[in-house]
Amino acid sequence: MVETMKDSDRGRRSVLLSRREVLTAGAGLVAAPLLVSAATEASAAPAVVPGGGGPISSLAYGAAGATSPLGPLSIERRAVGPHDVLLGVLYCGICHSDIHIARSEWRQGHYPCVPGHEIIGRVTKTGKDVKSFKEGDIVGVGCMVDSCGTCENCLADREQNCLNGTTFTYDSTDRSHGGYTFGGYSDKMVVSERFVIRIPPGADLAATAPLLCAGITTFSPMQHWKVSAGQRVGVVGLGGLGHMAVKLAVARRADVTVFTTSPSKVNDAIKLGAREAVLSSDVAEMKKLVNRFDLLIATVPRAFPMQPFMDVLKLDGTLVNVGALDQLQGLNGMAMGFGRKSLAGSMIGGIAETQEVIDYCTARNIKADIELIRVEEINRAYARVVNKDVRYRFVIDMASLKTTRGPMG
Ligand SMILES: [Zn+2]
Ligand SMILES: [Zn+2]
Repeated sequence: MVETMKDSDRGRRSVLLSRREVLTAGAGLVAAPLLVSAATEASAAPAVVPGGGGPISSLAYGAAGATSPLGPLSIERRAVGPHDVLLGVLYCGICHSDIHIARSEWRQGHYPCVPGHEIIGRVTKTGKDVKSFKEGDIVGVGCMVDSCGTCENCLADREQNCLNGTTFTYDSTDRSHGGYTFGGYSDKMVVSERFVIRIPPGADLAATAPLLCAGITTFSPMQHWKVSAGQRVGVVGLGGLGHMAVKLAVARRADVTVFTTSPSKVNDAIKLGAREAVLSSDVAEMKKLVNRFDLLIATVPRAFPMQPFMDVLKLDGTLVNVGALDQLQGLNGMAMGFGRKSLAGSMIGGIAETQEVIDYCTARNIKADIELIRVEEINRAYARVVNKDVRYRFVIDMASLKTTRGPMG
């Protein structure tokens, strides 16, 4: 009944559960959230006692292989260390990266793979040396859970650029504890307090989750390139990242244009606050915009011919790519040189800056436009994200994990 999927190093065992076992495990969690579930391989382990001391059994939703649909899993979280926070996951956004990694589209992944890096949870326990959080606090976890903490980039609050290798929230080698990381499609997580974000009172929790990746990824370049009132900012692609980029640039009173390939998104762009939206396939319209923009933020999650967008930048303008992480396409050196234009990359943001975007957005009531789903709808949601059919971020209500009856459709 219980099929062992992975027996990775340092006790990170995971098992696929049958429907009945998931229900059993869920019932156990309702009654005793910190007890190791009898349905898992860890049933011989002692119950987790306050202060830690054993692995923590956790329900999750993940992929057994690159071509498998996601389904219920049991995983183990490490014991709560002195500087760790245990949180019960309330909501987790679905990022396009989750799909790329669950399907090994960027590189060969580890399986089972539990994605999710837009996580909102409630602290249920803290390690003895934790200073910043207490039980009951509402917190967030974004794309990273560890870094070396000592290199020059870490010391400059740029943990995402750690010279010794950032530990990402899922499918990443866990530098401190061995094995690889499991993300937020799960009922519980154990995270070092250095990588936990405080969520201010009054935040709309489900709609705040996407700020932890989509929000910080678009906020960080606006901080670095100092987007300010009256500047012309273009957002290429109107998806999860793109819709946050529009909201954040509008909040700075920039003059925002959206470039999209979807005619159905033109009206949405205006509703989100953009001054105009342009179909990037319309060559005549693109020509009208040549030499106009201070900054472009490209959120398209795969490589595309970039020169038409370079052409709409004005002298010294910058095209910041935050979406395509594969081989970039189609740039003309002469045209870039003539306008002294720059192509830049940017990837999420540091922990301090992530706290900044959360505080900034909560204070201004900026949040993602979301569709809240149950866990068993994840596979359908993935298909809709790939088909660009989401307005504009799916967020999983993780309470549904306790009552899931397995994947739908
Ligand atoms: Zn993401
Ligand atoms: Zn470092």
